[in-house]
Amino acid sequence: MSAGGSSAARQVLPVGMVSTCIGCGCDDTHGCPTGCQWLRVDRESGDGICSECGNLVEAWDHNARRGKALRPAHG
Ligand SMILES: [Zn+2]
Ligand SMILES: [Zn+2]
Repeated sequence: MSAGGSSAARQVLPVGMVSTCIGCGCDDTHGCPTGCQWLRVDRESGDGICSECGNLVEAWDHNARRGKALRPAHG
């Protein structure tokens, strides 16, 4: 009697989901004209901070400490 456990499929993010900068509103597909990159990004919530909004990183990190630790994309 081999039990056939139903394997729970991992939830996959829908294709096309982008992260949006909480500072200026740019996202993966519509970046700043200067060509920004993510300083912080949370792919789960879809929030991020781009290199044009570096002044928000401190606040982001401060908030992150209260919850889960967020790792920068570059590090
Ligand atoms: Zn920004
Ligand atoms: Zn940007």
